[in-house]
Amino acid sequence: MSERNGSTGCLSRTYFKNAHIIDGTGRAAYQGGLLVEGEKIKAVGTLHPEPMGPDVTVIDLAGNTLMPGMILSHVHLSYNHVRDLPDLDLKQPAEVSTIAAVCNARTMLDCGYTSGLSAGALHMVDIHIRNAINAGKIPGPRLLAAGRDLCQTGGMLDWNPSWLRLGMEGLGVFVDDPWAVRKAVRQMVKDGADMIKMYITGEGLLLECQQTELTCTQEEIDAMVEEAHRRNRLCSVHARSSESCQMAARAKVDLIDHATFIDDETLDMIAEAGSFVAPGLDYIVSTLAYAKAGGFRWLGSYENFLDKTHYQEELDAAIINIGKAHERGIKLLIGSDFGFEWCPHGTYGRELTHLVKLVGYKPMDALVAATKLGSEAMRMQDKIGTLEAGKYADLLVVDGNPLADISILEDRNRITHIMKGGEFFRQPTEKTATRNRNATPASSVPSWATW
Ligand SMILES: [Zn+2]
Repeated sequence: MSERNGSTGCLSRTYFKNAHIIDGTGRAAYQGGLLVEGEKIKAVGTLHPEPMGPDVTVIDLAGNTLMPGMILSHVHLSYNHVRDLPDLDLKQPAEVSTIAAVCNARTMLDCGYTSGLSAGALHMVDIHIRNAINAGKIPGPRLLAAGRDLCQTGGMLDWNPSWLRLGMEGLGVFVDDPWAVRKAVRQMVKDGADMIKMYITGEGLLLECQQTELTCTQEEIDAMVEEAHRRNRLCSVHARSSESCQMAARAKVDLIDHATFIDDETLDMIAEAGSFVAPGLDYIVSTLAYAKAGGFRWLGSYENFLDKTHYQEELDAAIINIGKAHERGIKLLIGSDFGFEWCPHGTYGRELTHLVKLVGYKPMDALVAATKLGSEAMRMQDKIGTLEAGKYADLLVVDGNPLADISILEDRNRITHIMKGGEFFRQPTEKTATRNRNATPASSVPSWATW
């Protein structure tokens, strides 16, 4: 959607000057300017002569940071302040899922995430949210939608008791042989999915299906990849163990979510396959912190929680493995299971902070993961992800320097301007600019999680 100047018929132009530019490519930050024309970046760097004229809106950033809109590479838009498994399916009808997802899509944009890769959504609401965003009906990021996730009988999503005969309506589709997988992929493609996700291991909180329990066969993963790729769709797996990630690497899955509890041989195989990895560190960190603060009473003491869920062991392994993966050149992404009570939507910036403070990432590398690498995972690197001429003007102005303190990106109030496709989602008015100088303001948009 191009903005046009009604009087001249020319594309509208916005010139950001005196910016501390972090362009997302990984090259050193520099002082410069950026010109937006219509929905695209027209020029970036040291602009001579400076753009001027009645059709140019000039915004002097006075040294504040200009960077690409960020990309959340693992997000569940329908997760709605989940406290327990029934909150993920039984307690949430399609109507509530839809409202939550609309709010969470807006929250993503409000936190500076102008694009995202869905990791699955109840009732396929992510597909319809994507369509509404693309039609300009609701605010939200550019989104690759996954629809319902694939899983096996007895696998991670099959938590409802068999005797109730509930199955899993909404969140997942159970598939138990390669042809069932192919049919499910074909159905998901028909229904509008950009990517297919399959769960192939369990999870710490699921005591009957743990992180290291593999729930499918190589043939089933191969079938998913072949069907998805034949239709030019991406595919991802939820996989936390060595065995599962090796199977994913053999199948050349595009994206592995987690890959946390794995060994060096598996890291080598993932590097060789070229799969992207979204570790989702914050989910483990937050889950442990919540348990320590008295959460998960159904598991008894904190010691019993640790013994049953193995999350501390997983976190220790993940921190080491993310560092090793980064050294091997595996492309690690920003994203996690936001939408639980202990890691709600809107807290996305914590993932970057963990990479820097727990793993030892350079802040620039964390920013590249949140921008350029995310665009590559979406196969949209020619359109978004970096501040380069010809790409969509998806960009942020940050009050401060995230290279000096990455955690400022956790505070949406420090992101003063948010632009997607040349249109401002947020820009300060004189009133908010004065308020920002004098106090820390409340967010202008409440997060769904705080309702
Ligand atoms: Zn997830």
